[in-house]
Amino acid sequence: MSTFDAAIIGSGPAGITAALYLVRSGCSVILFENLAAGGQILQTEVLENYPGFPKGIKGYELADFFVAHLEGLKLTRSRDAVESVRGQIGAFTVKAGDAEYSCRTVVVCTGAKHRTLGVEGEDRLQGRGVSYCALCDGNFYRDQPVAVVGGGNSALEESLYLAKIARKVYLIHRRDSFRGAQVYQEKLAALSGKVELVLDSVVDQLQADLIAGLTGVVVRNVKTGEKRELKVNGLFVYVGMEPRVDFLPPEVERDPRGFLITDTEMRTSVPGIFAAGDVRSKLCRQAVTAAGDGATAAQAAFVLMEQLHA
Ligand code: NAP
Repeated sequence: MSTFDAAIIGSGPAGITAALYLVRSGCSVILFENLAAGGQILQTEVLENYPGFPKGIKGYELADFFVAHLEGLKLTRSRDAVESVRGQIGAFTVKAGDAEYSCRTVVVCTGAKHRTLGVEGEDRLQGRGVSYCALCDGNFYRDQPVAVVGGGNSALEESLYLAKIARKVYLIHRRDSFRGAQVYQEKLAALSGKVELVLDSVVDQLQADLIAGLTGVVVRNVKTGEKRELKVNGLFVYVGMEPRVDFLPPEVERDPRGFLITDTEMRTSVPGIFAAGDVRSKLCRQAVTAAGDGATAAQAAFVLMEQLHA
């Protein structure tokens, strides 16, 4: 079985930064990238708040920069999905694909995935009107009416993106105020002819046609009970994220929403397992905070390994 100082699981900003720091500290590292390095920024059109890019930077461009930073570094990269992590500090076994790896420490950087709405037919209509990625699927709805659900940064940002493509965007939110950033709210307000806010409302029903897929949604005002039919061909769901942690043992402590609990050094409740980025229980989920977490986790893992060797 191959042995490494650290297994880094996930290759978004947190995982790539952790890899960079650990390799530069002289550690042997295996980085599990799964599908593609870059993580959620690959699904972001433009990042306007990543320091150093005052005019903003496209998500895929920033991802390319991150990945380029790994070039020439001495590390092992794997595309296999990690299935399990067992063992204890200094001797973890990470199973991925058909192989097992022995790793002294583990840094979990698997991020989070979009939650579903839980409305009847949502699963069936995925790819036929229901989507969780405007950047990936928005173009299918060029000049057509679409709806977005949610009130966080993702919903606001993606409504702005879709407003450039779709004929009309209904932004459906269950309350009358948004938790997303003011700057996005102001940009949306300036597009009031194109983006209609449907507030205090939830999606009750998806309407579909066997051939065309989604044809509309029925929304219900939670204050008045009044129902309204919106004729849309696309529904983009942004109602929060859930962490990717299925492969971890239950001893790794989670918060009530399943995110991994860490201390300020990114240590989880299991010695030798660290967590960084969106998978962690924390206030601010941003590419820049994920990168910061990755650096801290790497440094903490390095210090721990020095103690193990001493
Ligand atoms: P989020 O901030 O957790 O917001 C989720 C939204 O969905 C909330 O408005 C919530 O309503 C609503 N919601 C939750 N469950 C719902 C349901 N069952 N039905 C209808 N609405 C529901 O999630 P997010 O927008 O995906 O963002 C995740 C994290 O990434 C956040 O920390 C966010 O700041 C960060 N992010 C940052 C940027 C950026 O800075 N550019 C971009 C994207 C994401 P309530 O408000 O009523 O709870």
